[in-house]
Amino acid sequence: MNTSIEHIPVRVEASPQAKNLHRYRRLSQYLVLLLLIVIPVSGLFRIDPEMGAFVMLDYQIWFSDILIVMGFWMFAVSLLVVFYSLAGSVFCGWMCPQNTVSEWANAITARLLGRRASSADFSGEQLKIAARRGGALNLGLLFVALLAASLVYALIPLLYFYPPSAIWAFVTFQQDARLAPSLHWIYFVCVAIMFLDIAIIRHLLCKFMCIYRVWQHSFKTKDTLKVVYDDTRSKDCSHCHYCVDACFLDIDPRKTEVFDSCVNCGECIVACDTLHAKSRKLQGPGLLRFAVGEASRRAEDSVLGSIIYRARFSLTATVLSAVLFTLGVVNYQPHDFTVYRNERVNSTNDFRINLAHKRYQPVRFRISLEGLPADGFVLERQRVDFSSVGRKDVRLHIKPGLPRGVHRFRVTVTASDGWKKSFPVQYYSDGRSE
Ligand code: SF4
Ligand code: SF4
Repeated sequence: MNTSIEHIPVRVEASPQAKNLHRYRRLSQYLVLLLLIVIPVSGLFRIDPEMGAFVMLDYQIWFSDILIVMGFWMFAVSLLVVFYSLAGSVFCGWMCPQNTVSEWANAITARLLGRRASSADFSGEQLKIAARRGGALNLGLLFVALLAASLVYALIPLLYFYPPSAIWAFVTFQQDARLAPSLHWIYFVCVAIMFLDIAIIRHLLCKFMCIYRVWQHSFKTKDTLKVVYDDTRSKDCSHCHYCVDACFLDIDPRKTEVFDSCVNCGECIVACDTLHAKSRKLQGPGLLRFAVGEASRRAEDSVLGSIIYRARFSLTATVLSAVLFTLGVVNYQPHDFTVYRNERVNSTNDFRINLAHKRYQPVRFRISLEGLPADGFVLERQRVDFSSVGRKDVRLHIKPGLPRGVHRFRVTVTASDGWKKSFPVQYYSDGRSE
């Protein structure tokens, strides 16, 4: 193997068009990373593990809020299906955080250990470290950089389970009652997995382990976006393999298939465009480009028509789920209450009013009863205060001695924010006074 060429500095100047494609992809990758952090930090979506509920904009969403839960997931899934069938695995190349961090790890490894130093593969080859960069200092710097990235990356999933103030308390080693006692261990395991992923696994996960990519594949057709090679200009191909080298998934972009591992990142297009822009011998632009396959047989006239025809079932589900979600939001109840027989007391005269508050804001409830004589019952409390989300019980005791028969009464709860609900209850009195 001739290693002498490693000493020659390589500087690639991309053509303006290719530069833009590369920049847009990086921008998309970083925006998605930012979004992954902004979503939980802004309160747009989080999970409350203690209450077993989703949290959206300070409101708890229970599984019983079925229209919101179903509408949201159906909307997301159907929209993604439209996206997969049109753009293939673009998610992997332009948005997936695993790919973003793997590319970053490849780049920093190349910078510190040389371009031929790659992460693990299954060929059994030794790590090839450039002779000039093989010092302990560079290896140490690489270790620190990968560990720092793992420490930060492993915090992102935690943001989906704890409010930002609790995460801040966690990273600054403060006591916080909201944090699980075993959180340090959970975080340690997350960091270890992230480090293994960033340092060794990287794109092996995309190539051999990613189930999500297989799921995306199932929606690909020959009309899906892909990289195509211009055969008609093959005389302008220098067979330099520059495009193959640019592909982090080791695909030959001149022979892409419908069901290959290509993630439409466009790096091969950038490579070929750059080569052609710099070459005096090769004519015209690069030989690779993005293209959608054959247009739909029925709606060939416009791109929009083709999109609508191919994604008509998924788009219908998207519209339907958006309607369900909107209905769920409009009918959302920020509080709830139920009246049960008090199973903790062996008496048919005792009830339990279970109040639930679903907002992370203080609220005051007032409880009133209609349909029973004022001296016929004892209500534990008429006013209940919540400082945040939660559930509280209030005991209701019906005094014996009511006339024999079924008594229908109504419990009404009014919240300080104007919410009001009534609950009808039936009570059978045997007429005895004890
Ligand atoms: S980079 Fe372009 S010119 Fe070089 S092999 Fe690939 S397609 Fe041919
Ligand atoms: S073939 Fe080209 S577009 Fe596909 S993954 Fe490789 S570099 Fe990216």
